[in-house]
Amino acid sequence: MTPTPRLTIDLGKIEQNARVITGLCAEHGIRVTGVTKCTCGHPEVARAMLRGGVADIGDSRLQNIRRMRAAGVDCRFTLIRLPALSACDQVTALVDTSLNTELAVLQALSDAARRADRVHGVVIMVELGDLREGVPPAELLSLVERAAALPGIRIRGLGTNLSCFAGVVPDRENMNRLVSLVDAVEQRLGTGLELVSGMNSGGLRLLAEGGMPGRVNHARIGEAILLGRETTERRPWPGTCQDAFVLYAEVLELGTRPSAPQGARGQDAFGDHPGFREAGTILHALLNVGREDVDIAGATPLDQGGRLLGASSGYLILDVTEMERRIRVGDELAFALNYSALLRAMTSEYVSKELVGDG
Ligand SMILES: *Cc1c(COP(=O)(O)O)cnc(C)c1O
Repeated sequence: MTPTPRLTIDLGKIEQNARVITGLCAEHGIRVTGVTKCTCGHPEVARAMLRGGVADIGDSRLQNIRRMRAAGVDCRFTLIRLPALSACDQVTALVDTSLNTELAVLQALSDAARRADRVHGVVIMVELGDLREGVPPAELLSLVERAAALPGIRIRGLGTNLSCFAGVVPDRENMNRLVSLVDAVEQRLGTGLELVSGMNSGGLRLLAEGGMPGRVNHARIGEAILLGRETTERRPWPGTCQDAFVLYAEVLELGTRPSAPQGARGQDAFGDHPGFREAGTILHALLNVGREDVDIAGATPLDQGGRLLGASSGYLILDVTEMERRIRVGDELAFALNYSALLRAMTSEYVSKELVGDG
């Protein structure tokens, strides 16, 4: 048996989710890049996404893309994080397309591609309110004009990223702004753009409601495929599974304890002053998963009645007084994970990964 803490990865469910999302997108003329970054570029997750219909794979880290390539994942890869100026040679060697916003980086990518006798594809990202990566619309045309003059790169299209840093919701207004910028760029360059990469999982609702402009033809989707949710309100997406990933931890200690601490109190292990609810005595459980393994705020016990009290680096502390199941030392408890908790669990080398479902 795979040791605890253990994260199960159901490849069949990931494939199914990918099929639902790529099917919806295809109805609207949108091609999907499957985003694997939350799984540290897990090669089997990438393969499940590809079986489910994504056109290619995007990841934010060169190491992840290298890992997938080395494992034989056979598709095109896009670097979806802005390339570091210091890494342009690796970027052009490893991927055929990256997302970009800075002229100095575009110049370095062009030089690197020329040295390697290649042409590197770029998608220029535009900032439409969410305040993560992107060129302000007012600066777009001058950047594009200069980028178009660089011999080692080819501008494949424009993109934007919302529902991320500030949680700005994709709507008809910001999507139409993207399309009018595409029109302006095409006019200035005198040629059509191949990609209008207007959405991530946050755009699914607008798409399903029929509000996405027809000119948007590309999506970069991670969470909706991995966790089965759109991301403006984290509602389960119809037809998808929310439990492709489940975290299992083992009960190390179990017993009756006071609900409130005793003694004078200073800071806790992390410099905080946590609050406690006075509730007499409780049934108190220590599990073998902690902050080094998972973002505990994003881990929800699947057993009814379990209440998360907190965590240290190596322990999760639960009030199991009201839990319907009677647990014992050595039992495993299961947790549903949100995006942040999944990211940490995938990144932690202390969490063993177990592939389940048809692979
Ligand atoms: C992570 C990321 C995505 C995927 O977003 P989801 O909300 O997981 O679909 C898309 N585009 C960029 C630029 C990203 O960094």
